[in-house]
Amino acid sequence: GSVLVGGGSGFIGTAFSQLLRSKGYGVLIVSRMPGPQRISWTDLVENGLPANTMAVVNLAGQNVLDPTRRWTPGFKQNVWNSRVNTTQSLAQAILKAQNKPKVFVTISGVGIYQPSSTAEYNEDSQGKKFDFLSELCYEWENVGKMPAHLGVRHVIIRSGVVLGKKGGMIRHLYLPFYLGLGGPVGKGDQKEDVRGVLNGVAPQIVTNKEFAKTFAKALWRPALIPIPEYALNLAFSEERAKMMTEGQKVVPKRTLAYGFQYKYPNIESACREIVKS
Ligand code: NDP
Repeated sequence: GSVLVGGGSGFIGTAFSQLLRSKGYGVLIVSRMPGPQRISWTDLVENGLPANTMAVVNLAGQNVLDPTRRWTPGFKQNVWNSRVNTTQSLAQAILKAQNKPKVFVTISGVGIYQPSSTAEYNEDSQGKKFDFLSELCYEWENVGKMPAHLGVRHVIIRSGVVLGKKGGMIRHLYLPFYLGLGGPVGKGDQKEDVRGVLNGVAPQIVTNKEFAKTFAKALWRPALIPIPEYALNLAFSEERAKMMTEGQKVVPKRTLAYGFQYKYPNIESACREIVKS
């Protein structure tokens, strides 16, 4: 069987697809661009799940922090649709498939938890709709829930900022951010009982400041000069800049309870890995 990965061409998707291939799985990517081992979103809607799909994962999404794109209503619509509609198309295809995949994994963000300097959130915490991004996370998680009613295991990963040299935050801005995700699966053991919401964050909670210091140190640079909040608000518009200027304390309680092994459990090891090579 093979794994169908929406957005498998992206920063996280590429790393994930490589990991799968290295473990001997077939990978088929759903992409807007044609290519080998790829299908289009239209193919998916018209022809349904490819035969022998054993798992479906969605990692598609228009880059929210693209500094070349202004935060206009049109761009926000792209940000929304590229997540909600793609997840919905995959869910629909699973619903219609004769042979169901074993598992459907969708990603969402820690932006579902309201930024706070005191509250500490885990997977049992109720999310709230308090701004555009939290509403997006809600809807994004919701549209993926239907297949679970037909017995397809659903895993939702509420991801913190993913640190890696090939994309995301680090490549973009070299900016401090609130949380770092440890890295790909440690042992890659099969866990057939994992379901529900998992916080995709490292067990160590770090502040913006701590991250900046550690990252600068790993680069053998003096600590970064803090970027004033108004500059970010100006460049990204406040609704988006909040992702960088505000943060929330998120604990991977369920992730740890399932025995997930972090390859880079703390910010030092993650930063060392990023600047290596
Ligand atoms: P990327 O920016 O690398 O994009 C992932 C893929 O999404 C692209 O390769 C592209 O595939 C597809 N895509 C982009 N725009 C659109 C669009 N308008 N319509 C349909 N598909 C589109 O993302 P990441 O790998 O960094 O992140 C993957 C997912 O994880 C995203 O949904 C993101 O919100 C989420 N996430 C990421 C975090 C991070 O720190 N990186 C943190 C929390 C959540 P193609 O060009 O092949 O169509």
